Amino acid sequence: MLKKILIANRGEIAVRIIRTCKELGIETVAIYSTADRTSLHTQLADEAVCIGGPRPAESYLNMGAIIEAASQTGCDAIHPGFGFLSENTEFAALVEECGMKFIGPKPEVIDALGNKSKAREMMIEAGVPVVPGSEGSVNTYEALKEVVDRIGYPVLIKASAGGGGRGMRRAYKEEELKKAFETAKAEAKAAFGDDDMYVEKLVLNPKHVEFQILADEHGHVIHLGERDCSIQRRNQKMIEESPCKALSEELRERMGNDAVKAAKGAGYTNAGTVEFVLSPEGEYYFIEMNTRIQVEHPVTEMVTGIDLIKEQIRIASGLKLNYAQEDIHLNGHAIECRINAEDPHNNFAPSPGTIKSLHIPGGPGVRVDTFIYQGYQISPFYDSMAAKVIVHAPTRLEAIRRMRRVLGELVIDGIKTNQTIQFYILHQPDYIKGRFNTSFIEKHLEEMVTDNG
Ligand code: ADP
Ligand code: ADP
Ligand code: MG
Repeated sequence: MLKKILIANRGEIAVRIIRTCKELGIETVAIYSTADRTSLHTQLADEAVCIGGPRPAESYLNMGAIIEAASQTGCDAIHPGFGFLSENTEFAALVEECGMKFIGPKPEVIDALGNKSKAREMMIEAGVPVVPGSEGSVNTYEALKEVVDRIGYPVLIKASAGGGGRGMRRAYKEEELKKAFETAKAEAKAAFGDDDMYVEKLVLNPKHVEFQILADEHGHVIHLGERDCSIQRRNQKMIEESPCKALSEELRERMGNDAVKAAKGAGYTNAGTVEFVLSPEGEYYFIEMNTRIQVEHPVTEMVTGIDLIKEQIRIASGLKLNYAQEDIHLNGHAIECRINAEDPHNNFAPSPGTIKSLHIPGGPGVRVDTFIYQGYQISPFYDSMAAKVIVHAPTRLEAIRRMRRVLGELVIDGIKTNQTIQFYILHQPDYIKGRFNTSFIEKHLEEMVTDNG
C-alpha cells in the first residue's frame, strides 16, 4: 500500500482526499499557493509546502515545483484531484518518470481520452454508441459544412480539448453555423490553447447520465451505477443525483455494460466516468470519458457505500478490486447541490470575500464537503465552488425533502451564493417529478432569479 501521498490540488477535493488518507494511515503532503496559507487543506495535511504565487500557473499548475515538493518530502504517489493537472498527460508522465505513482490512469490513456474527437473514434471501435457527427476533427468551415449537410441540424460544435463546458456552440440552422464555429474555436483557443474542433448532432432535450467506473491494474472493470447531472447552467453541472429516475433496470444494465466496454476499450485503470446523453426516446450516446475523480462522486459513495478515494488509492497500490459487479447495489437516493460563491443577480459573477458567519447543517443522511470556515477569505484566483451539500435518504422524494431542509439551514454570510437558486429548483414541480433535461435551468432561469429578488 502507498505510504505517503502529495495532493496536487486545493479546496474541498484536497480536504476530501486528506480525510481518506488519514483513515487509511497514509501520510499526506499538501501544496499551497501564497493565497492559500490559511486554507483548510494546508492545515489538515501532515505536511504542507508552499509552491508559488496565487495564480494557478505559478502554483497549482507549476509541475516542476509540485514534483520537487513531492520528492523532497519523500512521497511515493501524487493524487491530482480534479481540474488543474488532473487530466494533464505531461504531468502524469513526469510523476511516473520521477519514480512516483500518479493516482489515475496511464499517461497514454489520459492522452487518448483527453482528445474528445479521438475518444469518439475509440468508442466507435469498441462498439459503444456515439452521437452522429464528424469522423475525427473538422478544422475548416468547408469541412464542417460538409459534415453538417450530411447529419442535419441542429448541431453542437465542440473543442477536442474541451472541458468545464467551454469551447462549445450550437447551431440550429445554416445561417448560425459560421458564427458558432468561429466563436467556439476562439473560446477553445483562449481556454485550452488548442482549437482543434469536432461536430456532433445536438441531441434535443437530453438528460446527462454518467457511469462511475472502477478498473484495477489486473483487468477487472466494474461500474458503480449512474448519476443524473442534467441540472446544468451553461453546460456546467449544478445538481447531481443517483440513481437516475429515468433508467429502468434494463436500461441501467445496458448503459452500464457499455460504460465498462468503453473503459476496457481504452485500457482504462483507476476511477473514471463515462458520460452519455440520453434522449427522451431512451437512446443514449457516449459524449466523453473523464479520467479523474469527479466533483459529484459523493452521490455514488452515498448510494453504494464505497469510498471512491480509497478505491483509487488501493488500485494505484496495485491491489485487486474487492468487488465484483454483482456486489454493487444502489441503496436509496442521493442528491448533491454545488454551492458556488457567485451572484445570481449579477449574471452569476464570482463573489469572493470573507466568510463572516457560517452554519453547516447536520442531521441524518447529511454530508457537507467544503473547505470554508468562519473568517476564511475566498480567493478570487480559483474556481467559485465553495461547498458541496449531499443528502442520502431511502427514496428520491425523501432526499428532496431532506435537501430542502438542509438548504434552509445552511448559512454562509459575507459572500453571495447560488443557495436560493438551488432551494428554488428543489421546489419546482418538474424537478420533483423527475421531468427535466439539460435545458431545465435555461428554461426557468428568469423566474428563479426574479422570484428570489
Ligand atoms: P465534473 O463536474 O464532471 O467533475 P467539470 O467539467 O465541471 O467536471 O470540471 C471539474 C473541475 O475541473 C471544475 O472545477 C472545472 O472548473 C475544472 N476544469 C474542468 N476542465 C478543465 C480544464 N480543461 N482546465 C482547467 N480546469 C478545468
Ligand atoms: P465538457 O468536457 O465540457 O464536460 P461534454 O462533452 O461532457 O463537455 O458536454 C458538456 C455538456 O454539454 C453535457 O453534459 C451535455 O449537457 C451537453 N452536451 C454535450 N454533447 C451534447 C450533444 N451531442 N447533444 C446535446 N447535448 C450535449
Ligand atoms: Mg463533460
